[in-house]
Amino acid sequence: MSDCIFCKIIKGEIPCFKVYEDDSVLAFADINPISKGHILIIPKRHIENMWEATEEELVTVMRTAKKLIHAIKDAINPEGVAVLQLNGKAVNQVVMHYHFHLIPRSEGEGKLSMTEWELIPGNMEEIKQTVGKITAAIK
Ligand SMILES: [Zn+2]
Repeated sequence: MSDCIFCKIIKGEIPCFKVYEDDSVLAFADINPISKGHILIIPKRHIENMWEATEEELVTVMRTAKKLIHAIKDAINPEGVAVLQLNGKAVNQVVMHYHFHLIPRSEGEGKLSMTEWELIPGNMEEIKQTVGKITAAIK
């Protein structure tokens, strides 16, 4: 897609701090990092989200995440790494090209606020109904 910033990075029209590349994926540093070592993995084909991704593309991205999480561990030895992927503006996806975040957290960086939420018991009847709808829709 011509106006997509990640497609421009793939084509080399915009520079990036490249971490890894093969025929189908590119991994590079997020230039607005949440923490030290924040990396994005993207498929080279322009797709917006997981709904548009093929299973093979998802497997390839996850295989790359596995490779890079080991490299992150060896290189900067964080206390933990969040793996995050957002689908849609309602969940704050900003760049509409599928991307997978690897967000290491090291000593002194504190907890990752987006992974903390208050545990409030849900409405069991509503949960049951929603699960029923989702399980009935599994193909
Ligand atoms: Zn794109």
